[in-house]
Amino acid sequence: MQVHTVDVVIVGSGGAGLRAAVEIKPPYTCAVLSKVHPLRSHTGAAQGGVCAALGNEEEDSWEWHAYDTIKGSDFLGDQDAIELMCQDAVRAIIELEHMGMPFSRRPDGRIAQRRFGGHTRPENPSDPNSKRIPVRRACYSADRTGHAMLHTLYENALKNGVRFFSEFFVTDVIVHNGSCCGVVALDIRSGQLHVFHAKAVLFATGGYGRVYQVTSNAHAGTGDGMAVVYRRGIPLEDMEFVQFHPTGLWRLGVLISEAARGEGGILRNKDGEPFMERYAPTVKDLAPRDLVSRAIVTEIREGRGIEARDGTFYVGLDLTHLSEEVLREKLPEITGFAQLYLGVNPRKEWIPVQPTVHYAMGGIPTDVDGRVVVDERNTVLRGMWAAGEVACVSVHGANRLGTNSLLDLIVFGRRAGKAIVEYLQAGAAWEELPADVLDFSRQRIEHLRSSNGPERLAPLRRTLQKTMMDNVGLFRTDQGLRETTSILADLRECYQRLHLDDRGDAFNTELVEALELENLLDVAEAITYSALARTETRGAHAREDYPQRDDQSWLKHTLVVRDPDHAAPQITYKPVRITRYQPVERKY
Ligand SMILES: Cc1cc2nc3c(=O)[nH]c(=O)nc-3n(C[C@H](O)[C@H](O)[C@H](O)COP(=O)(O)OP(=O)(O)OC[C@H]3O[C@@H](n4cnc5c(N)ncnc54)[C@H](O)[C@@H]3O)c2cc1C
Repeated sequence: MQVHTVDVVIVGSGGAGLRAAVEIKPPYTCAVLSKVHPLRSHTGAAQGGVCAALGNEEEDSWEWHAYDTIKGSDFLGDQDAIELMCQDAVRAIIELEHMGMPFSRRPDGRIAQRRFGGHTRPENPSDPNSKRIPVRRACYSADRTGHAMLHTLYENALKNGVRFFSEFFVTDVIVHNGSCCGVVALDIRSGQLHVFHAKAVLFATGGYGRVYQVTSNAHAGTGDGMAVVYRRGIPLEDMEFVQFHPTGLWRLGVLISEAARGEGGILRNKDGEPFMERYAPTVKDLAPRDLVSRAIVTEIREGRGIEARDGTFYVGLDLTHLSEEVLREKLPEITGFAQLYLGVNPRKEWIPVQPTVHYAMGGIPTDVDGRVVVDERNTVLRGMWAAGEVACVSVHGANRLGTNSLLDLIVFGRRAGKAIVEYLQAGAAWEELPADVLDFSRQRIEHLRSSNGPERLAPLRRTLQKTMMDNVGLFRTDQGLRETTSILADLRECYQRLHLDDRGDAFNTELVEALELENLLDVAEAITYSALARTETRGAHAREDYPQRDDQSWLKHTLVVRDPDHAAPQITYKPVRITRYQPVERKY
């Protein structure tokens, strides 16, 4: 058994993992593990922007940003954490600029900003109660913001001497005597299991979009970090809140950034009607994602969708009135995507779009310094942190606003990194490793390698993804959710009888996909049971059988804990932290 002893191990090299890694400087040693090359992390695909109330284009304030985020979250976000994030945002952007991030600029040289869904300001800035209209708050690097951010952070982490272990697939987290003391990882190249023994562990493994059939997420978005901790009895928070982005390319789910609407794009139904005016009369196409996604599906359900050759339906994203300069300078990537994937020229035709699974609002519960907390009383698990999409602080509540995720990464990634350094400085030591540290991972891998059952990977994954899309998607019902729990139980049994063709050690990608499928199944279970329990409609969680928000019973966070015997998981709740904004009806 190969054991690497380091002060800190970070799992995941997206924006959150790298931003934390930048804080870990010598004499402390830091290993960053990633199942793909760091620069292939999904953060690199982020398009539209990262927001902060810089006020470069028009008057803005972090308090308006905080209120938008709270309202966008359908009042489920923790207000203390949201205030902290929005207040710190301005500093975080300037810091990124100083690290070398190439932002798009205004003619006067300052960072340019554009509009994004749900970000508003009072029409009359001196009257906070005046109508809220869209504000330019998103900083961006054309429509390649995440790419610029990921490269900037990677270079800064390298400079500090962080060690990267690429193509290491983490299979387990080691918790011993009440402390987290490392992880187990499969070296994909050799097929050997390695132990990373550390004083502090940070999970920054991103989201789980691949649980669903149509998603904007990379193939690596299989919820591994959430599944690993869930299997070890650590709770997951608010898993029922799955964000659909309104504008994925029809059938493919490839993202067309909200920046397209931020720059003036308009959604149209088959009659050419700009239908968002009916659903959100003030902010129209710049309403939050949960509302726009449901509006699109409602248009299609009521017969106003555009029929495709194969009998499925979509709506049109109209950019034909935008200038050549805007398309070329501000939206080059997505203009190319429409052409490349669907053969559509956005200068002349509407882009066919449909909602696509995009973002996990829920995840591993943490405090505002990224410490993992394991119960309703927020008891800290010593030695363990989480940040980024895998974590639930919770700043996004029931629905995240666009550009708030990249912000979450750089604010809470940094805070987690700093908290880890303080923990080390206070004299944290290496906990002893348990004797059976590899058993859990080894048994699963050996079973997969030797099983001769009749089941194949791809069909199982397809059934899972289609079931989740149909039953645990934008609209949910008690019946559909119950049906899903039994399909998931069947799939889990089938999984035990999986047959792999590749029994080798080196680069056994089939084995990796099988381990990912187990993670998808675990995450799907957590989502479905959490959704079944919540009998109200809030943010991204829309129950057709309970169409109203119910603050009396449901203004609380879900915690779902795996039952070791594989029966239904346990569900408990913890209160939402409210500072100054009492919930009101959400209108746009
Ligand atoms: C197409 C697209 C566009 C987006 N645009 C925007 C935008 O404009 N603005 C915005 O704010 N947000 C945007 N988002 C959301 C945002 O990009 C993500 O939420 C965010 O980048 C996630 O960052 P992360 O650091 O948490 O994880 P990721 O960047 O997803 O990185 C996860 C890391 O974990 C590693 N990992 C995962 N599992 C394992 C394992 N088992 N073992 C080892 N390593 C593992 C991966 O290799 C990877 O390095 C967009 C998302 C998508 C999909």
